[in-house]
Amino acid sequence: MHEFSGLNEECGIFGIWGHPEASELTYIALHSLQHRGQEGAGIVASSGDYLFGARGMGLLTSALSKEQLASLKPFPHAIGHVRYATTGGSELSNVQPFLFKSHTGDLGLAQNGNLVNAMNVRRALEDDGAIFQTTSDSEVFAHLLRREKTGNRKSKIKKVLRQLKGAFAFVIMHEDSLTVALDKHGVRPLMLGQKDGAYCVASETCAFTAIGAEYIRDIEAGEVITITDDGIDFDHYTERTSPHMCSMEYIYFARADSEFRNTSTYRIRKELGRALATEMDVEADIVIGVPDSSLAAANGFSEATGIRQEQGLLKNRYVGRTFITPGQEARERAVRMKLSPVRDIVEGKRVIVIDDSIVRGTTSRFIVKALKQAGAEEVHMGVSSPPLKNPCYYGIDVSTHAEIIASRKNPEEIREEIGADSLTYLSVDRMHEVYYGFGSKGQCDACFTGNYPIDIEETILPQEKDLKQKGV
Ligand code: SF4
Repeated sequence: MHEFSGLNEECGIFGIWGHPEASELTYIALHSLQHRGQEGAGIVASSGDYLFGARGMGLLTSALSKEQLASLKPFPHAIGHVRYATTGGSELSNVQPFLFKSHTGDLGLAQNGNLVNAMNVRRALEDDGAIFQTTSDSEVFAHLLRREKTGNRKSKIKKVLRQLKGAFAFVIMHEDSLTVALDKHGVRPLMLGQKDGAYCVASETCAFTAIGAEYIRDIEAGEVITITDDGIDFDHYTERTSPHMCSMEYIYFARADSEFRNTSTYRIRKELGRALATEMDVEADIVIGVPDSSLAAANGFSEATGIRQEQGLLKNRYVGRTFITPGQEARERAVRMKLSPVRDIVEGKRVIVIDDSIVRGTTSRFIVKALKQAGAEEVHMGVSSPPLKNPCYYGIDVSTHAEIIASRKNPEEIREEIGADSLTYLSVDRMHEVYYGFGSKGQCDACFTGNYPIDIEETILPQEKDLKQKGV
């Protein structure tokens, strides 16, 4: 469940080179990536000689005005970004794409993911005289690139990428080129497409669908692609790659119609639901999915068990971001505004509820309570992912153990806290079996297992270090 479950994606990126409607297509693409970030949005476009930018706070439709979009319309190359703040504050200066000006040329930059060594690199640059305009970790890339003195542009970019540690998918725009780069673990998704002969890149293929572009392939870990008027150049900044794409993209971040290696997230989620069915032995009358991201898993579970799937929970689609003060009661109120049980469907029934994950437990507790108040005889919770126990340092906004219920409690204690009659999680092994079945080359599962594929020592919060030292 997006938004109110406690996990949020950092952002979505898009870029297109050599199309007469580049800015408009970027706007449409960003609209389809809105689920990846709602705090700010922007577009930087190139005329071929100069870069021009527009950005604003909030949802895309309020972040960019009609006039701003019209001012970028004449330009044939554009990159765009929708943002959810995980590093840096929520303020306009941190909204991307960034636009840097220098006498050697302009630079537009947008990133998805988190750099785990950004603080150390930034401190070193500041000690050396650099002044930063933002608190975003992405800005270090621009400073490092400006300091590279030797080689052509591509070799400079590759040298900078080799200095960065963490999860990054970059779109980098110069007046005469669009460069895209994915970190050597390929943690965040990045896709290559084509629209009317023009190459485009996006965090998810749903952006290609929205603009009528063809999805060519997933961009590989460590890959650097340069697009100019002369064509496209494929390269790698390192050969030492170790693919670990974020498992959570499959489980709930990505839109259900987005594809990875030509397989829709919907199909993968459905398979996760089928896999859960092999591990959850519960008798029930109906199975319901928590809308929207768990409906596919519920469907797979229903097919595998023969238990009828019903729409026992409805989502209010017109609740945007809720500006309520943090706190347990306020969070519960926010969930109640967004989810509602269908009494007629659940009354007198033994219900299995499938959700894709449990983060704080607030949503699950509310769902169980609401279904029982609506007359459900029993409520069994099935989670189509393993217990989420660890913070993510690669671009997801849960960064402390204290926020995560499964880092403090075992499944039985969680079951008790959420008030369910039973609670079953998918096992890590079964999750991986599903991914490998769809041709996965390797997944990050650190939030479930604690096996971080990229060293996190440089980014770990002081309070987390304390916990680590105490062996928590
Ligand atoms: S730790 Fe979890 S959320 Fe973060 S990248 Fe890895 S799988 Fe994704």
